[in-house]
Amino acid sequence: MTDPLILVDPTDATFALTELAAAQLPVTDLSAHRGDGIFETVLVSVGEDGITVVSRDRHFARFRTSASALDLPDPDPVLWDRVIDELIAEVTAADATIAEFGIRYALSRGEVGADGTVRPRGWAFPVPVDEHIHTARAHGVTAVSLDRGFDAYIGSKAPWLLIGAKTLSYAVNQAAGRYAGQRGADEALFVSHDGIVLEGPTANIIIRRGDRLLTPDPAAGLLSGTTQRLIFDHAEELGLRAEYADLSLEDVKTADGAWYVSSMRTAAALRELDGNAIAVDDALTTRFQEIVQVG
Ligand code: PLP
Repeated sequence: MTDPLILVDPTDATFALTELAAAQLPVTDLSAHRGDGIFETVLVSVGEDGITVVSRDRHFARFRTSASALDLPDPDPVLWDRVIDELIAEVTAADATIAEFGIRYALSRGEVGADGTVRPRGWAFPVPVDEHIHTARAHGVTAVSLDRGFDAYIGSKAPWLLIGAKTLSYAVNQAAGRYAGQRGADEALFVSHDGIVLEGPTANIIIRRGDRLLTPDPAAGLLSGTTQRLIFDHAEELGLRAEYADLSLEDVKTADGAWYVSSMRTAAALRELDGNAIAVDDALTTRFQEIVQVG
């Protein structure tokens, strides 16, 4: 099967393989019109030494944290591991030469049944590493800064904002991407209302300043990225120190290198912010990409 989809019943801990093109989600599902659910996108790397689901455990840990933030039932690791393994088997059986692909898995609050109870629903399907990702990896990206509309570190005072949870409510992130596109940039860079750099709509930002790698503290109001943490785990072998820091736009513009990092793009150099050129460190870009692809 080239375009498989797995539908997951978290209540019964069962799943069924079907086709991505088949009808799947009732419009009454609360993810469809409330965005009430959570998801993860993991990179699957197919190398000579075997298949790696990059940061598999970190993704699943974040999936559980997101579920907890939304009061969804705790996802069962055994069930979701089987779902991911079955999808990998389907994709690699259909294409023996595939080098990498993503898996997007989601848990929706589901829909309200006749008896008034809500029954969650899950699903998982493969996503390709498409052309714009290859371009971003090879040539880097440009960005414009956009006000995220809240002050940094507001999350602990306002847990209902779900800052740090990876929810299916991505309309704001999508809109920011379109807005950046209209301004001639590849990406948006969210900044808190009080001027602290946060993240891109689908990526974290890392900068290098001398021998230090710096990234915004997730507590400032952003998603704690699996890719950023994977790269930080390797900082020492790169001869670098890794730290969380409050960064201003000026810090990014004057950095010795800056990157958008996420599971699918791995690492893309940020070469321009608000029309200002940023130093590009090609060697480190390559190292970051290798680190993520190896997992
Ligand atoms: N920040 C946001 C808002 C994201 O949507 C993502 C990923 O999609 C990231 C950061 C990067 O997270 P990860 O490295 O786990 O893919």
